[in-house]
Amino acid sequence: MAGRCEDIPGVEWVKGTGEFIRVVPELCDGCARCVRVCLGDCYEISAKKALVRSLERCMKCAACWYVCPRDAIVFSWPRGGTGFRTDWG
Ligand code: SF4
Ligand code: SF4
Repeated sequence: MAGRCEDIPGVEWVKGTGEFIRVVPELCDGCARCVRVCLGDCYEISAKKALVRSLERCMKCAACWYVCPRDAIVFSWPRGGTGFRTDWG
């Protein structure tokens, strides 16, 4: 199942990726770098911890994982060609 993105032409999200990103609350210090870097608006801070709000608009860029100074984000690429596709390859 796929969904074209109305506000970003040429972009398509493929559903069925599962929970491929999670935050380890014991490691997170609430710095919010993941919130600021994420273009998909996937994170929020609650009680000084990052939460994955929704992966619906996640672009699998791994920027959140890269900027997290506490290694609190567990990231794995969605398997089987699911996830995020563009018309440009
Ligand atoms: S960047 Fe890492 S430590 Fe900072 S809020 Fe996000 S998950 Fe927590
Ligand atoms: S992989 Fe990219 S789009 Fe997805 S949650 Fe992380 S920063 Fe946001």
